Amino acid sequence: MTAKADCPFCHADIKCSVFAEEGIFWAIYNIAPILPGHCLVIPRAHVESIMGLSEEELGQFVVFARRVTKTLLKTFDASGFDWAIQDAQEAGQTVPHLHLHIIPRTPNDLPNESDWYSRLEQRQAQAIDSTHRPRLTRDQLDHYVAVLCEAFGDLRNENFS
Ligand SMILES: [Zn+2]
Repeated sequence: MTAKADCPFCHADIKCSVFAEEGIFWAIYNIAPILPGHCLVIPRAHVESIMGLSEEELGQFVVFARRVTKTLLKTFDASGFDWAIQDAQEAGQTVPHLHLHIIPRTPNDLPNESDWYSRLEQRQAQAIDSTHRPRLTRDQLDHYVAVLCEAFGDLRNENFS
C-alpha cells in the first residue's frame, strides 16, 4: 500500500489534521465540517474501498472508529452520532480513499435530524479547493486537533472497554 499522487488524503499536509492513530488508521479533523466535531477515519495508506481491508484490519477500523466516536461525544458534549461511508463513485464517494465520516449530534443541531446527509452531499459537491467551500482557518484546525489529541489520550488512559 502506497501513497497516491493526486489523492488529498495521501498528501503530506493531511498530517496537520491527524489527532489520533492506531494500527494502520488515522483520525483526522475535517477541514470543512458540516457540524462541529465532524471527523474522518482513514487508512494511512491509499486504500480505495472497505473491500480492500483484511478482516483483521476491518476489526481495527471499527474498534478505532468507536474510540474516536467516544472522544467526539465527550469533547463536543454530543448524545448521538452519524457514521457514513460512501464506497465507490456511484455511491457518492468523491475522494477515492476509504473514509468513514463521524458526525457527533446534539438535540436540535439541524432543523431535521436527517438533514446531515444532504449537507454532506452539498459540501462534497463543491470542489475541494473551491473558495466557496467553507473551511476552517489553520488556527481553528490546530485548535481542534490539539483538543481532540488530548481527549483521545485521556480516554485511552481510562481504558476504553
Ligand atoms: Zn489516498
